Amino acid sequence: STPGSRFGVADLPLRDVLRGRSAYGAPQLDVPVAVNTNENPHPPSQALVDDVAESVRAAAQRLHRYPDRDAVALRTDLAAYVTTATGVPVTVDNLWAANGSNEILQQLLQAFGGPGRSALGFEPSYSMHPIIATGTDTAWIAAPRRADFSLDVDAAVAEITRRTPDVVFVTSPNNPTGQSLHPEEIRAIAAAAPGIVVVDEAYAEFSDRPSAVALLDELGDRVVVSRTMSKAFAFAGGRLGYLVAAPAMIEALLLVRLPYHLSVLTQAAARAALRHADETLAGVAHIVEERRRVVAALRDRGLVTVESDANFVLFGHFDDAHTAWQGFLDRGVLIRDVGIAGHLRVTIGLPDENDAFLAAAADLAPTGT
Ligand code: PMP
Repeated sequence: STPGSRFGVADLPLRDVLRGRSAYGAPQLDVPVAVNTNENPHPPSQALVDDVAESVRAAAQRLHRYPDRDAVALRTDLAAYVTTATGVPVTVDNLWAANGSNEILQQLLQAFGGPGRSALGFEPSYSMHPIIATGTDTAWIAAPRRADFSLDVDAAVAEITRRTPDVVFVTSPNNPTGQSLHPEEIRAIAAAAPGIVVVDEAYAEFSDRPSAVALLDELGDRVVVSRTMSKAFAFAGGRLGYLVAAPAMIEALLLVRLPYHLSVLTQAAARAALRHADETLAGVAHIVEERRRVVAALRDRGLVTVESDANFVLFGHFDDAHTAWQGFLDRGVLIRDVGIAGHLRVTIGLPDENDAFLAAAADLAPTGT
């Protein structure tokens, strides 16, 4: 038997706030069609794979040494990408990088949240925001969205004014609902916020909305923009997220980051992936087209969909969403039950994956059409 297996979590001297909590747990199941974690369905090109392999091989010559602690070359490449993608000229001093944007968000809460402080988010939104808040002992304040899941900016401003959180999360496009905000709406939220506003733009490349990066020159003491290579960049397995912010914000994060957090292998692989940005991002337009097709087909089948600016769609309405989720799984299609009554979330996949999903949806549509 496994040594130590007679102890349960309840037996451990765990922090009180963690007692009885559940860990983040999107199921990782081996199914024909996995469209549940908002990845890019297009695998990397052979040229990208070769470039990553060559770069990692070269980096491996120096594995006995610690990596560049400040990842300057990678941040320089990211700055060039962000400048092109957003039209806002940024430099290496505006960029910070970590192992996925989850680590960026955690570093932000380590620096700006913590015991005696609070973070506010507009739910439903990304489930890791409250989990990272709890992990850093930051009190979580759940503020509502409208019934259609869009963000009522006036209500948001009123709630921020009333609750005075140290950190406000704004996810745009919002996961799992799909709507995005205009930078002017984020400006209004920032004007009310007494602390920082974290704009989580994990899905920015799928949206036509301008990036909140445009606000940094004016509001850089408040607003920071978190992004990732996990979604549009098709680099979820490589683990690379980044922050675009005023240089002082990045100085603040240096106070909490672990030294050498980004391995030489990660830095080399991410730089290689960035060299192929044009070809990778060419697939984004195709995913957006497929999203339009999937939305139209779901509506044809009598289902309702929430307007999405991202690579996923929240749809319903099911009497029992979890039973419907199981029905999709029984048909080989793994989607996401995000815990919103009557609704499920599907990630846009390759055309044949979307076809398989739509065939299952036709079976499961509650109207029976
Ligand atoms: N923010 C949002 C809104 C997300 O949906 C995700 C991934 N599900 C992340 C951040 C984190 O992604 P990663 O750590 O892979 O960058």
